[in-house]
Amino acid sequence: MMENHFADIILPLAVKGTFTYGIPEEMDGKISPGSRVLVQFGKKKLYSGIVYRIHNDTPSSINIRPLLSVLDPVPAVNGIQLKFWFWISEYYMCSIGEVMKAALPSDLCLEGVAEVPVKEKYKPREETFVKLASELSENELNAIFDKLAKAPKQYKALAAFLELSGYADGRNSKAIRKSLLIKETGSSQASIDGLLKKKILSLITLETGRISDAEMPAEPKKDLSEAQNVALDAVSEIFREKEIALLHGVTSSGKTEIYIHLIEEQLKKGKQVLYLLPEIALTTQIIQRLNRHFSKVTGIYHSRFSNAEKVEIWNRVAGTEAGKEYRLIIGVRSALLLPFRNLGLIVVDEEQDGSYKQHDPAPRYHARDCAIVLAGLHKAKTILGSASPSIESYNNASSGKYGLVELKERYGLIKLPEIILANSREAYRKKLMVSHFTPQLLESIDEALGNNEQVILFQNRRGFSPYIQCPECGWIPKCIQCAVSLTYHKGFNRMVCHYCGFSTGIPAQCGNCHSPGMATRGFGTEKIEDEIKIVFPSARVARMDQDTTKGKNSFERLIRALEEREVDILIGTQMISKGLDIENLTVVGILNADNLLNFPDFRAHERSFHMMEQVSGRAGRRQKTGKVIIQTSDPDNKIIRLVLNHDYKNMFRIQLEERRAFNYPPFCRLLKIIIKHKDRSLLNSFSDFLGRDLRRQFGRNLLGPEFPIISRIQLWYLKTILIKLDKEKPVAKAKQSIIESIERLEKEKGASGLKIAIDVDPY
Ligand code: ADP
Ligand code: ZN
Ligand code: ZN
Repeated sequence: MMENHFADIILPLAVKGTFTYGIPEEMDGKISPGSRVLVQFGKKKLYSGIVYRIHNDTPSSINIRPLLSVLDPVPAVNGIQLKFWFWISEYYMCSIGEVMKAALPSDLCLEGVAEVPVKEKYKPREETFVKLASELSENELNAIFDKLAKAPKQYKALAAFLELSGYADGRNSKAIRKSLLIKETGSSQASIDGLLKKKILSLITLETGRISDAEMPAEPKKDLSEAQNVALDAVSEIFREKEIALLHGVTSSGKTEIYIHLIEEQLKKGKQVLYLLPEIALTTQIIQRLNRHFSKVTGIYHSRFSNAEKVEIWNRVAGTEAGKEYRLIIGVRSALLLPFRNLGLIVVDEEQDGSYKQHDPAPRYHARDCAIVLAGLHKAKTILGSASPSIESYNNASSGKYGLVELKERYGLIKLPEIILANSREAYRKKLMVSHFTPQLLESIDEALGNNEQVILFQNRRGFSPYIQCPECGWIPKCIQCAVSLTYHKGFNRMVCHYCGFSTGIPAQCGNCHSPGMATRGFGTEKIEDEIKIVFPSARVARMDQDTTKGKNSFERLIRALEEREVDILIGTQMISKGLDIENLTVVGILNADNLLNFPDFRAHERSFHMMEQVSGRAGRRQKTGKVIIQTSDPDNKIIRLVLNHDYKNMFRIQLEERRAFNYPPFCRLLKIIIKHKDRSLLNSFSDFLGRDLRRQFGRNLLGPEFPIISRIQLWYLKTILIKLDKEKPVAKAKQSIIESIERLEKEKGASGLKIAIDVDPY
């Protein structure tokens, strides 16, 4: 007798729910929740699905198709993952199939194919390494050298090997790539063969590629400073009672070293650890640092890996093959979806970073928030780290929900950088600006270059979104309802509020000093690069932004060039604001703080503070005190004053008050509905329909429908509705009624041309 006759299957589709199939006799006992199976869906299309549940509840439909086959010997997805997928789909209001699609490497996820493709099996690249046949004492080694006196080439080759492998420095010798030995020391193939024959050296084959196990000896972890020790103890103390600790440590206070201690503790217990970073750009240096300690068990995960590599990492995290398990994973947000078996700790570095949020496609999840949920499912702990925590997290720490640990000094008691405000409005007026650079900035760059030090110049990518400003007094038009700056739309020749949709024409004169001739502001990294080259023709200039870092190893190359001092001035977007630890970097220029501050978003001030704090944290991390030049037309701006004093606490306090006053998170939850249609007037009438329907329930807590800043993407027109969900009321109920409203809309005549997406916590 078969135990279960039916299986509910998750398919990689944007359709709600699971799909019931029949379990054929021959698969009885061979599948369980998490098994990957092959099914037919629609006309002759094959999909891989994941078993969600097996049962005996006869479905109402009479047309139950059978499962076609089981794809792997063991379930590809574990029980914790299934729970996690389900939570994500509920919370972020998407189908569980969309979560599956995001989670599974595409080689494991067939989506409507005619036949199952034959995939090449992943073959790790292997290389030949040379090592000592056995560890030798100094006496034994001397004896060998004596014997080799008659074979001078072999003598030289062995000496070269010992030097390269670290033996000469009194460290344990490590294996060396054979090709490297030949290339670096000029040893011949024949002399190496001779040493192999005499069994002095031996060969091993090792996988190379992502991590070179053999060449990286495990380095003991650094001794912590007094302050770091206190912080580490405090974290451990918190973890006795709470699940989450927030580590608020100034830039270069050595947070990473504290993580290393916490990670080691978990690995010793046999647990897995996930180390999340907001961007790939950041991983290069951190990976090198973590690798020195944990290279044998460390894997890296980000979107730039090939499909085959992703499958390999998936299997290693799952521990499919004994002895090859990854226990520390360093990755970007999608690493959360790997098949962890027993997490003990998740580190969320730079927890305030906006890159943790996935905007498109679904699931539109926030990796920090999901990390906390995933850790909960594993009964693991979470440490959130930041030099300037998000308002949400710090609020949670203030209220006691999270434990809080503060690290106020830089490692080695290095001073925080000196911050200099450069008034660009005044400089423009006095005609002292050289292109986009103030005299103060130029002077500091000049001085740094003279001392052979390095400089980074930061220009926000969002600086492309232009705004209007009075060149005389610096006045910027703001929304009458939301108190955020209006964005200039060249196309419509109007200024628009990104939030409520309010729009108005370009004022002929300044609303403050009434002088005529308002100016548009906003410029990008490329232009800065061109112009800095003209001002400093002999400086070596590089640029780091989305355009220059498309290649797989482009980050590594740029960062290495910086480390090797092959670049004098680096210009970049927010990518360069985080994590970089460059010894010789002393000057940081923030080219235009105004367009950070004036971005039309309720978090603009918070984000500006984070970015300025972080980017200034790159300067003077070693002996020399760094210098940060902030160019602004508004030196009295309250956020800038706060950055000047590194005054996080007051930034937090003021922002929290504003959020309370205007009812923004953490005082409510935001939910955005994005409605698209190819016909503008139909879009208008459908979104009005939905707006009216929802307004009945949410009243003044509903904003819109409005056209967003980018109101047309390819052939689709966009409108958005923003809903502020009351935190005191049950969220699930509100979400359900939103879904019902959308379903009502979808039943309207002509509504099939609509595309509707929901973004929960859209920030
Ligand atoms: P953060 O992550 O807080 O910005 P890091 O962990 O990058 O700080 O530390 C800043 C610098 O100080 C790094 O170069 C790091 O190697 C060094 N450092 C931090 N703690 C120690 C320590 N205990 N011993 C030696 N060097 C340390
Ligand atoms: Zn507004
Ligand atoms: Zn003015």
